[in-house]
Amino acid sequence: MPTLLNGNRIRDEILSELKPRVERCIHEGGRKPGLAVVLVGTNPASQIYVRNKVKASEALGLHSVEFTPPATITTDELLGLIGKLNYDPSVDGILVQMPLPPQVESRRILEAISPEKDADGFHPISVGRLVANLPAPRACTPAGVMEILRRQDITVAGKHAVVIGRSDIVGKPMALLLLHANATVTICHSKTPDLAATCSRADILVAAIGRPAFVRREFIKPGATVIDVGINRLANRAEMEFIYSEAPDLKARLEDFDRKHSALVGDVHPLEVDAAGAVTPVPGGVGPLTIAMLMSNTVALAERRLNLA
Ligand code: NDP
Repeated sequence: MPTLLNGNRIRDEILSELKPRVERCIHEGGRKPGLAVVLVGTNPASQIYVRNKVKASEALGLHSVEFTPPATITTDELLGLIGKLNYDPSVDGILVQMPLPPQVESRRILEAISPEKDADGFHPISVGRLVANLPAPRACTPAGVMEILRRQDITVAGKHAVVIGRSDIVGKPMALLLLHANATVTICHSKTPDLAATCSRADILVAAIGRPAFVRREFIKPGATVIDVGINRLANRAEMEFIYSEAPDLKARLEDFDRKHSALVGDVHPLEVDAAGAVTPVPGGVGPLTIAMLMSNTVALAERRLNLA
């Protein structure tokens, strides 16, 4: 059976390493690192993500401020808020929760965030610095994957890594981070022919697709490390029953589903990873790292602004 890569444990390790750095900001820099989170509208999934980010930053001792403008906000109004946060000396990191309502030009909002306060690493300057392998905030989820690999002593240099997905927030930055760590990287997407054959040559397979249980047994090379970035909420009982039809604990899973009316499934089929050497579970794998890396980016930005870096 593959080794389960425990994201919760690695998250706790990262947060406990950040604590003394937060203390140093307070004692030598004179203030807490500050994170401003902007949540537009009332999207329930976004509300949960933002609540978790605010909770994590408070637990770490950061100064955390939340802004919740209505879903009717215009691009100019939101640009006004970002402008104020850019000049607020108590704010080191700014995060605008995506997606934004359709009338707001997301690209303009992301570009308006000062690169010195780019907690998510999505600003074009941060992306350019990533391409050139220069220091800058890195996109949190791929950075979290690299922490899992590093802290679990999984060799990346010289390995063949395959990333399924080419989004700006996961797939592309993931591929670049693996490349900078000296992997030979293949990026796959919806137009890639014979996806399973390409994936089955990967020593490290990263799935960031957004399709439940998409990666099947034939995608996985024996002994490979399989990183499942996908977080898919199943609301359909039949789909749940189909994916877990061979599970020995199917009954308990369905009872749990009936209580919660949903279940989380990754992009990798949870029952078809037996050949892998190591695998991240969903939930409890990559997910917890995303918030830890947001905290890490915010503390690093604060250290720079306080001249402590
Ligand atoms: P996007 O929808 O932006 O990108 C999905 C990518 O998968 C695209 O590049 C798409 O290809 C590719 N894809 C879709 N279908 C197929 C297919 N049949 N075969 C091959 N490739 C395919 O998603 P994100 O990158 O934002 O997120 C991916 C997953 O990661 C989601 O489940 C999301 O919930 C999860 N996620 C998890 C996070 C965490 O904290 N763990 C954080 C962020 C995301 P193409 O470009 O050709 O359309």
